[in-house]
Amino acid sequence: MVKKVLKFGGTSVGTIERIQHVAKIIQKEHSSGNQVIAVVSAMAGKTNELINLSKNISDNFNKRELDVLMSTGEQVTSALLAGALSELEIKAKSWLNWQIPILTEGEHTNARIVNMNIKKIDTYLTEKGVVIIPGFQGISKNADITTIGRGGSDATAVAVAKILKADSCEIYTDVDGVFSTDPNKIPVAKKIDQISYDEMLELSSVGAKVMQSSAVQTAMLYNIPLEVKSTFTNRNGTRIFDEDNIDYSKSVTGVAYSKDDAKVTITGVEDKPGVAANIFEPLNKSQINVDMVIQNISSDQKKTDISFTIKREDLLKTLDILKKNKNIKYENIIHNEKVAKVSIVGAGMVSTPGITYRMFRALSEEKINILAISTSEIKLSVIIDEDNTLNAVKKLHTIFELD
Ligand code: ADP
Ligand code: ASP
Ligand code: MG
Repeated sequence: MVKKVLKFGGTSVGTIERIQHVAKIIQKEHSSGNQVIAVVSAMAGKTNELINLSKNISDNFNKRELDVLMSTGEQVTSALLAGALSELEIKAKSWLNWQIPILTEGEHTNARIVNMNIKKIDTYLTEKGVVIIPGFQGISKNADITTIGRGGSDATAVAVAKILKADSCEIYTDVDGVFSTDPNKIPVAKKIDQISYDEMLELSSVGAKVMQSSAVQTAMLYNIPLEVKSTFTNRNGTRIFDEDNIDYSKSVTGVAYSKDDAKVTITGVEDKPGVAANIFEPLNKSQINVDMVIQNISSDQKKTDISFTIKREDLLKTLDILKKNKNIKYENIIHNEKVAKVSIVGAGMVSTPGITYRMFRALSEEKINILAISTSEIKLSVIIDEDNTLNAVKKLHTIFELD
């Protein structure tokens, strides 16, 4: 007997027919004698709809109440799936975050799961019941409802697999697995059969939303193998696990992009020690994450321009903090929110010389200007004009032989 966590994303449970289809997938697992814990997302589009409702009241809607609101999407799917399983005469029951409970720490809308009570669940599994758990949510130690960040049902699935010591954790979604780039945008993208945690973590943190990055991080930390596969086909998916058995004959495994960034340039800043610290310290204090930084040394060595990138949603707050900062002198602040970050990721990059130059050459052949660069051992990201995003992704996908 195998204990399985099966997670179903928003599109997979997007209609009643799809929920009935998911119930059949569970039925198959259950009748093979497996113990099944299903973690479900809200129906596709539901979470955005709920957020928009809150925005009709205020752009600054109380975060505690936003969590109460957003968590309802997953509640609906849990009950519908339990009902669909009952119709198939399968014993099934849903529990909400506070009924289990699933404990979280951290701020509202961005909490993380730290523990959960497994007693009721384990008993129900041994009684051959299917357990249904809503993804994306938990409760704080004060018993307030929390959510764990967008795409967070992936993280719930991994946490549940870890805490319940499941034998496998399968992420059912609307594509066949993890691809070399988003298959819905670049149709020549290829499915990857297996990928290391490190590569998946880099890919998801630079925009491949097929897996949420904090879910991958937890899976990597506790060595929980994941499988990403389609709810709608029977094709083999992608296995995500540690790197020992993976072939690195390819230097680049995938290309990802995100349009969540904005670039800020402060011109005519004094070129002397302490200036950068004076600029970035107040941003850090306000929990604004600065991603890339570029400093141009001016010819007279007295003044310089400093550019950096941040999350687009932090732009207004950042501009406000900079303008109120009495500790810096500058000529002007310019910003550009129509930028995108395009990244290549591959564990094989470490042992392949010339990747950086090939990426830059390829972009220049497409006449794409690079606005900022950042690198890690297995990732290379550039900021470019948003209009050039798909061109850049296509070109990089081709030159690194991923088509
Ligand atoms: P779910 O609702 O099942 O969690 P998501 O919408 O969060 O699904 O993630 C699946 C989507 O991720 C796909 O439909 C695809 O458009 C997108 N995606 C982006 N990059 C990739 C990639 N490298 N491989 C596969 N899918 C990707
Ligand atoms: N429903 C949540 C969201 O849309 C969580 C998830 O789908 O993973 O972000
Ligand atoms: Mg998702």
